[in-house]
Amino acid sequence: QEMHLQNLNTIIQTLFPLIQADAMRSDITLIQELGEIEDIQLDEKEIRQLILNLVRNGIEATEPGKTLKIKTSMDSDRVVLAIHDEGPGIDPDVLAKLGVPFFTTKEGGTGLGLAICHNIIKRHDAKMDIVTSPQGTTFFVKFKTSQI
Ligand code: ADP
Ligand code: MG
Repeated sequence: QEMHLQNLNTIIQTLFPLIQADAMRSDITLIQELGEIEDIQLDEKEIRQLILNLVRNGIEATEPGKTLKIKTSMDSDRVVLAIHDEGPGIDPDVLAKLGVPFFTTKEGGTGLGLAICHNIIKRHDAKMDIVTSPQGTTFFVKFKTSQI
């Protein structure tokens, strides 16, 4: 693991062409809302993987013509990454199993995306919150800043 003090927005901007191509292929409008955020200690490769896994799940959950949003912001002393989709939401029984390796509701799904996300989040001493409703789901990842 290679941790460096870096800005999450830079990583999102680097990934943007790739994510945008994925979204376009599914006729989904991608919205980027990058706030002014502090640098954090992160492993760029892992954070790229985290964002890709969450964005791909969002795209897979969302009907064509709808919108997926990637947002960064500060919440007091935390850097927050939010991936918001307009999919159908996650049922409570599915929610309870999220991140369990090989758990998938998709035909041909690996069920590994969120398990990998959980490991990456743990290694970054961050945490994940999920807010879901029939109108859509938001995955929040909250990173500590190294305040002195
Ligand atoms: P996979 O995408 O291969 O199924 P994941 O670990 O990425 O594996 O996701 C596990 C399951 O969590 C999915 O099969 C799906 O049921 C559910 N899920 C994940 N993200 C979302 C989302 N944004 N909206 C609805 N369901 C989701
Ligand atoms: Mg997935």
